[in-house]
Amino acid sequence: MDYTLKRSKRRTTVAIKVAEQKLTVYAPFYVPQTEIDAWLNTKQDWVAEQIAKQSMQAERRQLPLVNATIKLFGQNVPIVFGKGPKNTWQQDARPQLTLLISSRVKHQEANYLALLEQFMHEKLESYIEMRVHDYCLQMSETLPTKLKIQHYKRRWGSCNKRRELTFNLHLASAPTWVIDYVVVHELAHLLHMNHSAKFWQRVSQFYPDYKKAEQWLKANGSSLSW
Ligand SMILES: [Zn+2]
Repeated sequence: MDYTLKRSKRRTTVAIKVAEQKLTVYAPFYVPQTEIDAWLNTKQDWVAEQIAKQSMQAERRQLPLVNATIKLFGQNVPIVFGKGPKNTWQQDARPQLTLLISSRVKHQEANYLALLEQFMHEKLESYIEMRVHDYCLQMSETLPTKLKIQHYKRRWGSCNKRRELTFNLHLASAPTWVIDYVVVHELAHLLHMNHSAKFWQRVSQFYPDYKKAEQWLKANGSSLSW
């Protein structure tokens, strides 16, 4: 058993303290080390128990955002943090997301955030893939060459000349009717690479309520970050 020995002149008895999962022994000068070690051996169980208790408390302190929720497709989803054999998430029928981090990894909080981001990324990506397929059929448009999800500061989506579509990761928190609008907007750019009257005509043909969606994004866009 490792410990720090602190001797003092005033002490008349031997005492032990467990703090921050470390053991300190306080003893008078006249007690020999062998005697201290022998006495400590009788206290082993108690010390081990204290250390285990404290490491559990320390672990609990490392968990971020207890009682946190995340908005997924406009709905609040409570997040439960926990330990698992590996970094993973679970989502069952309940509207609840469980994030599990391996207890072997360092920087637990950063891992939870990375895992949460991964979760949101996958959710948004599969939703957008589905809607891009739907709307391409409706709009008689050929599929884009690439779909990407990434962080954008000031835009919800983009479309380039190589017919690659990119969507803002934070759309994952928006209601699906708003995401649909961004999908139609970007798909309309495949035909019109500008915001001309013809472009808006095409948008309104396949998404008549586009002004409502634009207004929603203006009013609530900044609250979509997490
Ligand atoms: Zn545009």
